[in-house]
Amino acid sequence: MNEKESRNRLVTGNAAFLAGIPFSGDTSEKIRQQTAEHGQHPWAAVVACSDSRVAPELICHAGIGEIFTIRTAGNTIGPGELASVEYAAEHLGVPLVVVLGHTDCGAVKAALKGDATGHIKSITDMIRRAAGIETDPDKVCVKNILQSVESLRAALAKTAPETIVRGAIYRLETGRVSFIEG
Ligand SMILES: [Zn+2]
Repeated sequence: MNEKESRNRLVTGNAAFLAGIPFSGDTSEKIRQQTAEHGQHPWAAVVACSDSRVAPELICHAGIGEIFTIRTAGNTIGPGELASVEYAAEHLGVPLVVVLGHTDCGAVKAALKGDATGHIKSITDMIRRAAGIETDPDKVCVKNILQSVESLRAALAKTAPETIVRGAIYRLETGRVSFIEG
């Protein structure tokens, strides 16, 4: 699958989800055996927020072995996330990496509030860096997605330059995934 086909597959899977079609991802015994025997060949890597309402496989009707998923609160990119994406791009050859943020993100709200403590602060600090002087949560959400996109593009430019990195936003209230420019 190339990058365009990969993006189309995410869009059509999300359209099926939006239409209320029963989950059509393949989780059968056959696919489990096939992928156990022959390895995984995912056609996309997705860095999504850990929010329980934003599971990439569910909202895009993807089954076993299809999406290499990295999830972290606020879809931020630290060393572990970066390493995981590098692995997906360099060793699994995914044509597309998507950073998937979402509306009403708790991590974005916590960053704007500015009272995070403990390890949570490492995430909110990254989001605050993306926000700059912006205080509108929807705009900060997009800026945070684009910051993660830029981090991944910079890293993959050296190691897997043919891999395309894009940002997308999931709207909790509608269930729609939209790719964003930039
Ligand atoms: Zn979130």
